[in-house]
Amino acid sequence: MHAAVLEAPGRALVPSELPDPVAGPGQLLLSVRACGVCRTDLHLRDAEIEATKLPVVLGHQIVGVTDDGRRVGVPWLGWTCGECRYCLSGRENLCVRARFTGRDIDGGFAEQAVADERYCFALPDGLSDVQAAPLLCGGLIGYRALTLAGDGAVLGLYGFGSAAHIISQVAVWQGRRVFAFTRAGDARAQGFARELGCEWAGASDAPPPQELDAAIVFASAGELVPAALRALAPGGTVVCAGIHMTDIPSFPYADLWEERTIRSVANLTRRDGEELLSLASRAGIRTTVTTYALAEAEQALADLRAGRFTGSAVVVP
Ligand SMILES: [Zn+2]
Ligand SMILES: [Zn+2]
Repeated sequence: MHAAVLEAPGRALVPSELPDPVAGPGQLLLSVRACGVCRTDLHLRDAEIEATKLPVVLGHQIVGVTDDGRRVGVPWLGWTCGECRYCLSGRENLCVRARFTGRDIDGGFAEQAVADERYCFALPDGLSDVQAAPLLCGGLIGYRALTLAGDGAVLGLYGFGSAAHIISQVAVWQGRRVFAFTRAGDARAQGFARELGCEWAGASDAPPPQELDAAIVFASAGELVPAALRALAPGGTVVCAGIHMTDIPSFPYADLWEERTIRSVANLTRRDGEELLSLASRAGIRTTVTTYALAEAEQALADLRAGRFTGSAVVVP
């Protein structure tokens, strides 16, 4: 099969021919229809997080079809032990032996993939393969971040990429007021956010029209954390939703005072996935997608790094 392979961190993905994968016990062999591109793929490619298996096929938002025509989604959470204290307390996202798709297990920038059936999701019928793929990480982990942000009415989203463009739709559907923060002067992203129902969009260092009950930081720039904290009402929460972030600059204690909280979100549980996918149709989620051929997977990562598209990128083998 053809695949785009990360041979060494810091180097371009290499279009390669690999042996067809073989499904082991409990695994599905999938013909890949679409695979979303996530910032985590870029962090692995750019050596900002550790690639534990090399060479590796990246891609952890896989829409695939089985031999008998079943369409499933494969997320980042590829396997958990079921025995550790996290698995036994409903926190399999923190499993000490977890294995992740497109990092520890070959992922979906390929014509075929295998996945443990217990971690695959049924997908809503109303969404095409390309439309559904970005839900599988941007949507799922974004949804976990939204849940951990609490149920406050005024929500700020810092960084308006794949995850934010999905989660803003969920939050607006839930009846929240959503403010989008982008790079200063990024009129295209700000216009895109308003089109999706955000009430206000502006620069990340600008004061929002009103204090936030919660903020989710999707971008990987650490300086956004104190900026988001300063925009919070007392008792509010800043949720850091990425797997990697640059160092967070120091800030005065007064900015945290009054029971403000900073927390991170790691990975997903299957329950997060089931909840988001079950509400996707009701919430009318529509993803905005730029597609790339398998041989263009490296270009997709370059365009993500440079911010050259709005919404999500999807590789279509
Ligand atoms: Zn475990
Ligand atoms: Zn991801």
